[in-house]
Amino acid sequence: CGIIGVLGTHEVSPLLVESLKRLEYRGYDSAGIATINEGRLDRRRAVGKLWNLSDLLVHEPLPGKSGIGHTRWATHGAATVANAHPHRSGPVAVVHNGIIENFRELRAELAEAGITPETETDTETVAQLTRLMMDRGMAPREAAVATLKKLEGAFALLWLFDGEADLMIAARKGSPLAIGHGDGEMFVGSDAIALSPMTDRITYLEEGDYAFITRAGAEIFDHEGRRANRDEARIDLGQ
Ligand code: GLU
Repeated sequence: CGIIGVLGTHEVSPLLVESLKRLEYRGYDSAGIATINEGRLDRRRAVGKLWNLSDLLVHEPLPGKSGIGHTRWATHGAATVANAHPHRSGPVAVVHNGIIENFRELRAELAEAGITPETETDTETVAQLTRLMMDRGMAPREAAVATLKKLEGAFALLWLFDGEADLMIAARKGSPLAIGHGDGEMFVGSDAIALSPMTDRITYLEEGDYAFITRAGAEIFDHEGRRANRDEARIDLGQ
């Protein structure tokens, strides 16, 4: 339901939770974040209000300057911790808005490769497919793009990878996603409001776009994989 991503210069856990707070108005049943600390991917998730996630983070902190977060409005699978995002498979973490319509077919494909579902969600197949591509030797960028090509439905996706503290991959098809530009920092949000504490310099992804994001900037590609130029705008959200 709500997506946030930060490649930052500060500890991102508080920023991720603050940004998710700004997306609360959209409604949600659970929330979670994943960060990379000293190269290692880890996550925390909680059912119910964001207070539950922030309580958990006090007791089990998640350091790191790179991270993604999500507020979930369940479409496939109950509102449980196991079904909350970010979803993880091996080195891959993913947050997702929308629905992967062909997830059952994708599950069958994954089963042939010996990868079985651990959650009830459609989203998990995205993490598992990307992981499978990486197991087969693809680099994260290649694996995410190969995964994207297999997905049907309406979605916004954001990937984070173990060992890759300077990379997020974003994709938009039928569900909005905005990139925020900072000073040596980069952000992604499902809504410019989520980014407003961090930046007012926004680039909206267009339908079918995907982007490779590092602290140096974003490389955006259209649905045919051609490098695309998307305008950067200043969005005044009142703060
Ligand atoms: N379909 C996904 C799920 O049920 C994402 C729902 C959402 O947009 O929050 O987990």
